[in-house]
Amino acid sequence: MAEHGLIFVISGPSGSGKGTVVDKLLESNEFVLSVSATTRAMRTGEIPDKSYHFLSREAFEEQIRNNGLLEYNRYVTGDYYGTLRSEAESAIAAGKDLILEIDVNGGLQVREKYPDTILIMMIPPSFQILEHRLRSRGTESEEKIQKRLQVARNELSQMHNYDYVVCNQEGPDGIEAAAKDILEIAHAERQRLDRNRDLIRSLLNQETKRGE
Ligand code: 5GP
Repeated sequence: MAEHGLIFVISGPSGSGKGTVVDKLLESNEFVLSVSATTRAMRTGEIPDKSYHFLSREAFEEQIRNNGLLEYNRYVTGDYYGTLRSEAESAIAAGKDLILEIDVNGGLQVREKYPDTILIMMIPPSFQILEHRLRSRGTESEEKIQKRLQVARNELSQMHNYDYVVCNQEGPDGIEAAAKDILEIAHAERQRLDRNRDLIRSLLNQETKRGE
């Protein structure tokens, strides 16, 4: 019911399951997902311009110079990740609620530009479970796993800057429940009084006319 598209940032460490929860949320057709740009190599199973816009380092740095990014960050791996202004702003202007699945650093940059951005942190039930989830992927070296755990601790330590926390419990029920929690947050945020001023004004206006 809100008067323009809202921005929902969903952050959380690798292994928090945010990608799977976001896929579930998109099934509701209530949101549009912003496809990020990155300089990292494409992984098997990823689809260009759906998973990410895969850019060369030169192309990404040109976007930075031309102010083409709403936010960006350089990850521990040395790769750039960022939200293209064109991608995000066209969705908001069309009145669609946008999901940005980005890190805390990026989330805080977006909030600076759009102060009514809603920041949601997805957390695992415990560090042990997070570590287990990262290891069970079986795709990364011990060194990389340790690096991701370090990044996770760092991200979670900045949680106090966020508005909501959603815990992704183990199993398929955990995914369903986390997606439901975020849908409920979104519904409540859309009902906020300050996001429905036109509706209230028009109601009060009718009341005044009848009473004249
Ligand atoms: P991955 O390489 O596993 O796809 O993503 C690594 C990290 O980059 C994740 O924490 C993810 O949230 C973050 N990330 C993905 N897209 C963006 C983006 O557009 N901006 C920022 N700041 N972080 C992003």
